[in-house]
Amino acid sequence: MRAVLSIGSNMDDRYALLQGVIDEFRDDLVAVSSIYATPPWGVEDQDEFLNAVLVVDVDGIPIELLRRCQKLENDAERVRTRKWGPRTLDVDIVQIRNGAQELLSEDPVLTLPHPWAWQRAFVLIPWLEIEPDAVLHGTTVAALVENLDPTDIEGVTKVREF
Ligand code: ATP
Ligand code: CA
Ligand code: CA
Repeated sequence: MRAVLSIGSNMDDRYALLQGVIDEFRDDLVAVSSIYATPPWGVEDQDEFLNAVLVVDVDGIPIELLRRCQKLENDAERVRTRKWGPRTLDVDIVQIRNGAQELLSEDPVLTLPHPWAWQRAFVLIPWLEIEPDAVLHGTTVAALVENLDPTDIEGVTKVREF
């Protein structure tokens, strides 16, 4: 199965933390976006984030991929103090698909596609960079980006490649 992952950090050595995710998935990597600097989303009084999106090709079942993502967060000593608050590392599964078939799940443990992805510039813009034809829940990512607030689009700035 193919999975689209959104990764982010706004604490400690952000580059190293994101690089750690790439290293973990190095044998499964299909594509990886540039690194983007992005304003905090949801809770705004916190430091700037670095975000990226990767596409991986993995075996096994979706929950195993979630556990792998959560292990990376735990290894980064992520502490959850407040919802959408500062974090060393966040690894979200944006989408899982088999061929063109998108997996849908309403399970709160693993909701697919990720419930907020469609309105997050920091997910959609890096994703569009690596998959210009991507479709999220029936709508192209390109169309979702076009519908974003221009201020949100401007806030997401490419820093460099991995
Ligand atoms: P958000 O989910 O809005 O981006 P967050 O990333 O800060 O917020 P977390 O504290 O990292 O939220 O995750 C809370 C829970 O979300 C996790 O325990 C996980 O089981 C669940 N979850 C549900 N769907 C997904 C998904 N698609 N990817 C990652 N985690 C998910
Ligand atoms: Ca998240
Ligand atoms: Ca998360």
